[in-house]
Amino acid sequence: GHPALAELGTTVFATMTQLALEKDAVNLGQGFPDTDGPREVLDAAVEAIRSGRNQYPPGAGYPELRAAVAAHQERFYGLRLDPAREVLVTVGATEAIAAAVLALVRPGEEVVTFEPYYDSYAATIALAGGVRRTSLLRFPDFAVDEASLRAAFSPRTSMVLLNTPHNPTGRVFSREELELVAELAREYDAWVVTDEVYEHLAFDGRRHVPIATLPGMAERTVTISSGGKTFATTGWKVGWLSGPAEAVAAARAVKQFLTFVGSGPFQPAVAAGLGLPDAVFERLAASMAGKRDRLVSGLRTAGFEVPVPEGGYFVLADAAPLGVQDAVQLCFDLPDLAGVVGVPASAFHDSPRSAPTLVRFAFCKEDAVLDEGCRRLARLR
Ligand code: PMP
Ligand code: GLN
Repeated sequence: GHPALAELGTTVFATMTQLALEKDAVNLGQGFPDTDGPREVLDAAVEAIRSGRNQYPPGAGYPELRAAVAAHQERFYGLRLDPAREVLVTVGATEAIAAAVLALVRPGEEVVTFEPYYDSYAATIALAGGVRRTSLLRFPDFAVDEASLRAAFSPRTSMVLLNTPHNPTGRVFSREELELVAELAREYDAWVVTDEVYEHLAFDGRRHVPIATLPGMAERTVTISSGGKTFATTGWKVGWLSGPAEAVAAARAVKQFLTFVGSGPFQPAVAAGLGLPDAVFERLAASMAGKRDRLVSGLRTAGFEVPVPEGGYFVLADAAPLGVQDAVQLCFDLPDLAGVVGVPASAFHDSPRSAPTLVRFAFCKEDAVLDEGCRRLARLR
């Protein structure tokens, strides 16, 4: 088989959700909401199905969704895109990441990414024959370490794969941190592919800064997002990428043979969602910040050391104060010990030794579920 196959295994999210179902545990593992998002978005999907939009959409996606993505990037970030040439609709952000990496990385070239990283990054870089070079974000503040980031670059670097707001650390990278990434990308003439699926989930008045908005970066940046997190429709798998026409065309060439097209009637529904008033996006972030607070305080009561996430769906909690030495073992035992499922942070690292006692918990759940999860975890003390 492909030389990368040995490295792939089964994704930790599928394993952990399976475990939660088998053990009837509270699932704070896989990041998916347990309630529906905006009514308008759901109604638009029903309407699209009823009105017969059930066949293959165009290869680049329905024009109304491409136009809605361009309008959204201009409304929130002042980025101007030509929807015909600079936007591609994909099957979730996952396919956008795969299409961009497979299109832009040649075998043997290096891709710089922060560690911990979302699991599909390592797999996709390996499938492209690329080499992953990482810079560690360290507990508890997960700040960018300039020396280690510089050291990850080399003359073979062809891409930086960025994610902000960040899964699993909850960081929302500052403008200064992004300026450093941008400076290095320009110095090494590298593409930046930036995964911004949590773009509307920055908390406490923080602003998400798309790296494409920094000086000189739009021409070398491919920006990726998805409707899943923003509209609580992770099962619809409507994603997109945008950027320079040449990069979008290359990703489109790959995408044709990954899935051809996808998510037909859900595309116009996500287009409707992207056009909702600012207040809807603000309410979403405020509600998620409240859930974050609930989980952080519950985990602290249960004895974990927990930094406060700045954005996204997740918190990384240290189980060391509970006497835990191996978070992988803890996560396999947790359904029996406490009736809760979490994900060991090592799933997002090259080496299990990098974060041996950290567990990722998701807070994109109903308040009652978060409270019950925390109540159960308090048994660990
Ligand atoms: N990137 C990150 C950082 C994620 O957390 C996820 C998980 N939803 C994805 C990409 C995948 O997004 P999608 O479901 O749209 O493929
Ligand atoms: N992105 C979600 C997470 O990090 C899950 C996606 C998946 O299961 N692949 O939990």
